Amino acid sequence: MKDKPKLTFEELLEKIKTYIQDEKQLDMINKSYEFASIKHKGQKRLNHTDYIKHPLNVAYILASINADYQTICAALLHDTMEMCGVSKEELEDNFGNEIASLVDGVTKINRLNYNGDTESQVANHRKILVGLTEDVRVIIIKMADRLHNMRTMYILDEEKQKANAKETLEILVPIAHRLGMNKIKTELEELSLRYSKPDVYFGIVERLNKSKNERNKYVEDMMDEVSKILNEHGIKHEIKGRAKSIYSIYKKLDNGKRFSDIYDLLALRVFVDTEADCYQAMGLIHSKYRPVPKRLKDYIAMPKSNMYQSLHTTVFGKDGNFFEIQIRTYEMDRVAEHGIASHWSYKEKGKTMLQDTMEEKLQFFRNIMEIKENDTDEEQFVKDVKGDILNDTIYVYTPKGDVIELPNGSTPIDFAYRVHTNVGHTMVGAIVNEKIVPLDYKLKNNDIIKINTNKNQVGPSSSWIDMAYTSSARNKIKAYFNKIDKEQYLKKGEEIFISELRKRKLSYNEFASDDNLKKIFKELKIDNLNDLYIGIGNNKYSPNQIINIITNDNKTKEQILIDRVVNKETNDDSNNKGDVVVEGIDNIKVSISKCCHPIPGDEITGYISSGHGINIHRVMCPNIKDLDERLIKVHWNDKTDQKYSTYLLVHATDNKEILFNIVAKTANTNMVVKSINTINNEGKYIFEVKVSVTNLLDLNKFMNDLKNISNVTNVERVIK
Ligand code: MN
Repeated sequence: MKDKPKLTFEELLEKIKTYIQDEKQLDMINKSYEFASIKHKGQKRLNHTDYIKHPLNVAYILASINADYQTICAALLHDTMEMCGVSKEELEDNFGNEIASLVDGVTKINRLNYNGDTESQVANHRKILVGLTEDVRVIIIKMADRLHNMRTMYILDEEKQKANAKETLEILVPIAHRLGMNKIKTELEELSLRYSKPDVYFGIVERLNKSKNERNKYVEDMMDEVSKILNEHGIKHEIKGRAKSIYSIYKKLDNGKRFSDIYDLLALRVFVDTEADCYQAMGLIHSKYRPVPKRLKDYIAMPKSNMYQSLHTTVFGKDGNFFEIQIRTYEMDRVAEHGIASHWSYKEKGKTMLQDTMEEKLQFFRNIMEIKENDTDEEQFVKDVKGDILNDTIYVYTPKGDVIELPNGSTPIDFAYRVHTNVGHTMVGAIVNEKIVPLDYKLKNNDIIKINTNKNQVGPSSSWIDMAYTSSARNKIKAYFNKIDKEQYLKKGEEIFISELRKRKLSYNEFASDDNLKKIFKELKIDNLNDLYIGIGNNKYSPNQIINIITNDNKTKEQILIDRVVNKETNDDSNNKGDVVVEGIDNIKVSISKCCHPIPGDEITGYISSGHGINIHRVMCPNIKDLDERLIKVHWNDKTDQKYSTYLLVHATDNKEILFNIVAKTANTNMVVKSINTINNEGKYIFEVKVSVTNLLDLNKFMNDLKNISNVTNVERVIK
């Protein structure tokens, strides 16, 4: 799905009304929107759309997974605290406690914007996990927030794009996976790949788009045949073609497979009403098409740990092609696509199996998060969390028969700390299946574990840190020791800081004014003086770094009068009738897509939209990759000499005279610069340049000219 820059509240409401009819709830949603749009009034996003379109889009993503009304309200309000200085109290007064807490939760996570260094990255990861421990809806909103931000990420500089992509892959994707939110997960993965490895990503998109018609034909034929067998046996069903995710293709290519060998590119999904129908359908399909050995998976009898249920099989299908077929009920599909988000009433009493499983999943995150503020090795933390989230899990029992989920590799130490921190701190030994075991014993599925404790035990042994497998146990042990160190760092940090101020002849009282401290805390994302001193004491911050935050704060923003330089031609693309030749069809309405803005010379393809004629995209455009859209061969008419508009992003390290230079490079060419948007973002400069151009050769030459401007680091075309 694409960003909807023109999305209106009415459209959102229409979508919500398909599953929420309660007037009071709809009123609250309405009120939230009005509140947010007043607060965000005048604010713009980096891509110059009105800010309110962002919360609207986030709410829209959530409405597509049938989020409850509090979640929708919180999504609409999610940036009002951070961006508009709205207080939690104000939200409480207007919207009640629950919605206010959700917004507060999202704000806490977002307060730490990623800025590339490991420390804030770790802190950010941590906050995301904290969100999980409070109310899982906070994290679901965060997912939607990130998803929309990534859909519009083309506007950021490369470094930020890569950092966001990395963080998404490292933390949000595994959490989405754990929570079974596969649909959002898949899109996050694809967007991450797009920005972390654009060449690979667009390469796959292009190959998929080129082979799409052929694949569609195979899939449709196969669908007809399978449908026929099922109808003959009276099984009510629906069959859909299924696009393989680009990320899963990338993974396979990365493992050394060739594109042509990835046989499950042809994929079908069969929907039936009941579990029994699933098995019967599979039997019928196997009676006609030979299954590929070892590709049969029964996730109905044995659901995945994120609750996913489905039958999977691969068969030798029509014309010798392999088909990967998934068979499931509609209910299973809902859970498979949205996981935890398929069940919004999870907080109600009278829990179902699903709710129990979900509680278990959440407990898992809470356990990871039971981490003291002050652990030392920050990079280790990321590794730990990733390990804990991604690894296989085992299920073991307390002597009372309570199940505890632990990552594979855990020891009795992990078990003890999972039960309770004090059980860990006072542990003297462990008994597994009635036998005494060493503390580094690796627990196995179904082990029954009894921990012996002694309340006179003074505390854990530091050697346990290496024996524990989970980050939460290790961190609890470290926290025990850190607490002792903390006091010392605090004292040391204060001393270092004061002596540095003295060295630079700055008065402590003047320097440590409320305003200055506020600025420092904001910059370092901390909230009190103790944290500052401890940070200095343990070398997290240097005293110079702190002092520079205040003393270097007199940058002036040099605004150039770009609008005057830029030719503000308003008429849009020329009449392009006849410029694009649709093979085999004359006289059909053709329109140029607004996401990838092809120009003559670009390799293009046509997308047959219902009722709107043929939409022309670049072959590498990801917006046409989904399987059920129809593509048709088209090419540019050689004779065309009309101008077409397209967008460029010019990245620069400075903004001095860049605008002038961009415009100057159009002298003596056919190019027209139609508009330039300046995007200043934390010391980086990006210019979104709309140009009007006759063909690709001219554009490429122009782009090369731009690259030669000093301070310009990159020039690229935009695909929205
Ligand atoms: Mn946001």
